[in-house]
Amino acid sequence: MSSIADEVSRRRTFAIISHPDAGKSTMTEALALHARVINEAGAIHGKAGRKSTVSDWMEMEKARGISVSSTALQFNYTSSTAAEDDEPTVINLVDTPGHADFSEDTYRVLTAVDAAVMLIDAAKGLEPQTLKLFQVCRHRGIPVITVINKWDRPGRTPLELLDEISERIGLTPTPLFWPVGIAGDFRGLRDVRKDEYVHFTRTAGGAKIAPEEHLSTDAALDREGDVWAEAVEETELMTEMGQGHDQELFLAGQTSPVIFTSAILNFGVRQLLEALVELAPAPHSRTAIDDSEREVTDPFSAVVFKVQAGMDAAHRDRLAFMRIVSGEFERGMVVQHAQTGKPFATKYAMTVVGRDRETVETAYPGDVVGLVNANALAPGDTLYDGATVQFPPIPSFAPEHFAVVRADSAGKYKQFRKGIEQLGTEGVVQLLRNDVRGDASPVMAAVGPMQFEVVVARMKTEFNVDVQVEHLGYSVARRTDAASADELNRQRGVEVFERNDGALLALFSDKWRLQYIAKEHPSLTLEPLVAAA
Ligand code: GDP
Repeated sequence: MSSIADEVSRRRTFAIISHPDAGKSTMTEALALHARVINEAGAIHGKAGRKSTVSDWMEMEKARGISVSSTALQFNYTSSTAAEDDEPTVINLVDTPGHADFSEDTYRVLTAVDAAVMLIDAAKGLEPQTLKLFQVCRHRGIPVITVINKWDRPGRTPLELLDEISERIGLTPTPLFWPVGIAGDFRGLRDVRKDEYVHFTRTAGGAKIAPEEHLSTDAALDREGDVWAEAVEETELMTEMGQGHDQELFLAGQTSPVIFTSAILNFGVRQLLEALVELAPAPHSRTAIDDSEREVTDPFSAVVFKVQAGMDAAHRDRLAFMRIVSGEFERGMVVQHAQTGKPFATKYAMTVVGRDRETVETAYPGDVVGLVNANALAPGDTLYDGATVQFPPIPSFAPEHFAVVRADSAGKYKQFRKGIEQLGTEGVVQLLRNDVRGDASPVMAAVGPMQFEVVVARMKTEFNVDVQVEHLGYSVARRTDAASADELNRQRGVEVFERNDGALLALFSDKWRLQYIAKEHPSLTLEPLVAAA
């Protein structure tokens, strides 16, 4: 029997943050291939269909029969430096929603990880969604490993790309593996710390792990000539500027180890896994709301970071995904739900495996477990056993889109209320109400308008109610208080609401209106909300 501390030390929980199309799905598949979870990448649909087969973990699961959920993929990986009797590393890869409209969702997901891989397209450099997600990581103190992907295609120079990272986000890149060959002529990597050349050989269609040859500096120079010399020169330039890896600075979020890859050719993917095992932090203690530290070896505690429903027509229920913070989880244990003070039985604890579900018997800090039919649980909630603990809530973002939602038919009022309340609890949208509008037509507030589409679709499929959405002409929200509410409601272009978390929000048609009113009535409480990252 291994102790909790042992289980924790062999776990790595991370997410890939990237702009759509940078190669997140392809990289996920490549990681699974290297961990030998699957035997071949793109095998089922062949080359032409590769994009569609990798674009969705559910599809991937269906096609390959591997253990994937749309929320977290867990696999074992034995590092090349592991001793013979070492247990493999347990990797938890948590998926982040791709679209910018779901940044609130992404923020919640990033509360569940200990590290992030920032995946960048070599031809495009830092793109808007990568930047946003990076800011979330910085805000949460999550260390970031940088991966420059698609090196098999023409792109920018490595120095240009790294310059962009340090200039635009103030993160010092520290190369671990430097490309040998310009973008579009990817021959291998210079292992900066070992000072050796890792040469890769392509496999047909990139379907298999690319064979590696390890060469000394002299042999590399013989083989690659100037191309090798250039890689050496460039990395030395970086080292002279003090850009060597420093574990402390990396964990403090000041530097970021860099690896160049081609996810599609499986070049550099093993190096990324090795870096995760070697450098990414194992799960660690979490600060509770009262500033105490919940150590990983303390009794069981977990944070709910995502609620997902309607994953499949045959399972019309909701799954609440928790990230375990401390202790051992055993299915069936009765834990406490900090928000309601009620006990919660975990009889149905699952990992989702494609269309099927697999029961989880035990899990440890860093692991992600789905709880079935956990309707009372909402993102940010704490579950615990033993001494009381509550972790800080996940902040909700300043909404910028507002719309009234109502049922098409008055006869469905009960289902409508039930559905809307549920979606509000899950955090699909924020819900606003006031006496003037009443309960039949609450206002939905969102960071991105696609959240409204999710409400329409889910109301229909899960609650059997057709709803209408009518966009409102507000674009700015401020937190206010009861004392200011009457005066605000008298103003043109302003309306005050109570949000489902109890906060009072004043909505303004635009920021000029807000500025004008704030100037005319300086005593009003108008506090900015947390801006979307
Ligand atoms: P995602 O949107 O970030 O999940 O990106 P995908 O993994 O779906 O990849 C987007 C496109 O880039 C697909 O056509 C992939 O085949 C392609 N792609 C991904 N990684 C690489 C790579 O390393 N090299 C090349 N040439 N193409 C890649």
